[in-house]
Amino acid sequence: MENMILTMTEDEWVKKYPLIRSLQNLQECFWINDKKEPFDSAVKKCALGMHDIEDASDRLTRFAPYIAKAFAQTAASGGILESPLREIPHMKRALEERSGVAIGGRMLLKCDSELPISGSIKARGGIYEVLKHAEELAVEHKLLSYTDDYACLAQPRFRDFFSQYKIAVGSTGNLGLSIGIMSAKLGFHVTVHMSADARQWKKDMLRGLGVHVIEYENDYSKAVAEGRRQAEADPYCYFIDDENSKDLFLGYTVAALRLKKQLEQMQITVDQAHPLFVYLPCGVGGGPGGVAFGIKSIYGDAAHCFFAEPTHSPCMLLGMYTGYYDRVSVQDFGIDNRTAADGLAVGRCSHLVGPMMHPFMSGAMSVCDERMYRLLAMMADTEQIRLEPSALAGVPGAVNLFGTNAGMDYLKREGLSASADHFTHIVWATGGSMVPDDVMRAYYEKGKALQSL
Ligand SMILES: *Cc1c(COP(=O)(O)O)cnc(C)c1O
Repeated sequence: MENMILTMTEDEWVKKYPLIRSLQNLQECFWINDKKEPFDSAVKKCALGMHDIEDASDRLTRFAPYIAKAFAQTAASGGILESPLREIPHMKRALEERSGVAIGGRMLLKCDSELPISGSIKARGGIYEVLKHAEELAVEHKLLSYTDDYACLAQPRFRDFFSQYKIAVGSTGNLGLSIGIMSAKLGFHVTVHMSADARQWKKDMLRGLGVHVIEYENDYSKAVAEGRRQAEADPYCYFIDDENSKDLFLGYTVAALRLKKQLEQMQITVDQAHPLFVYLPCGVGGGPGGVAFGIKSIYGDAAHCFFAEPTHSPCMLLGMYTGYYDRVSVQDFGIDNRTAADGLAVGRCSHLVGPMMHPFMSGAMSVCDERMYRLLAMMADTEQIRLEPSALAGVPGAVNLFGTNAGMDYLKREGLSASADHFTHIVWATGGSMVPDDVMRAYYEKGKALQSL
């Protein structure tokens, strides 16, 4: 019998959704979302709103005095974890020369690679959810009230209290780092369920902090499922569910409030005549979805957000394009989910984020690993910025926008074909600063070798 995927054969899927063939062939795709809606109608269907983003932001502000105390490197920023926004004109020029495509407007890099504590976008959502859980426990047991100075959480009595509780998470690496480091600092017992292909240095670092790391031969979804199952059996264990968590999502959204301030400081206007394009590396979707939700909540129709995924793991593209979201995986279609892009090696998109973000997103694209490596070397050479491969996935976004018929049609449809000088492009650089020097050197050399092919 023919291979059935849900209720259809593979041939029936491809007939109905022809782009699947390109995904199966591991071609780089640039997909425009024809179900995108005007912001006002999209947000009406959404269970979350601006007040949720502000609530999350206020919570991070309450915790700032504790963070400043617990992590000395954050004292200068008062315990607020934020990353720089930098213009990358040399990279933009190199991209234009290499691709032969003129990119209208300015190109900026949001350097989440430099976020304190864990060096990736996961420092937003992962740390946020741990803090929220700690706050709930401490308030419930009348050890803390919302108006206290949270610096008190660094006292031994709180560590003793939290040490009765456990936190568990399934992770390909970076989420485990963020949650492991934060939970261990507060005093929780923490277990990270990791896919076996996670980087050795991440496992070593976590074990060095006293985090319990369990490795799984199978991929990421299996690690999450097993973590969830073990946690369910234990009432003292709180499971952080990367495929379903509203709190994780909200932790990421706060980035947009901070980005708005940074753009204002750079005197960059965003409005209908000065649109903002944001390209976000996507794994399960919580990080990029949360950031995109925040950005759309602030700028509405003036913001255009795209997900970027590896050609070997285009789970969100597949999920949104077919409308089957997490009911299909890339493996169902014979796509192997093997990529060097840590954090993006996800075969099935988030149950929460796929359907929720579909009406807000402008599109999604897939990028091959070789291109990420080449761009990694180009970024190092032109801007002296060190990123991990995943963090480069959004870079081709602007080239796709101006260099493809799909992109030009999109601009026309949005009424933007004439004014490209006023565009701002933000490439979200999601990780890199924690990568050990020898690993980074190997990445760079691989990129240089691929450039010369
Ligand atoms: C996790 C991660 C992402 C994507 O975040 P998701 O929430 O999984 O979509 C992107 N880049 C890096 C470096 C990551 O670690």
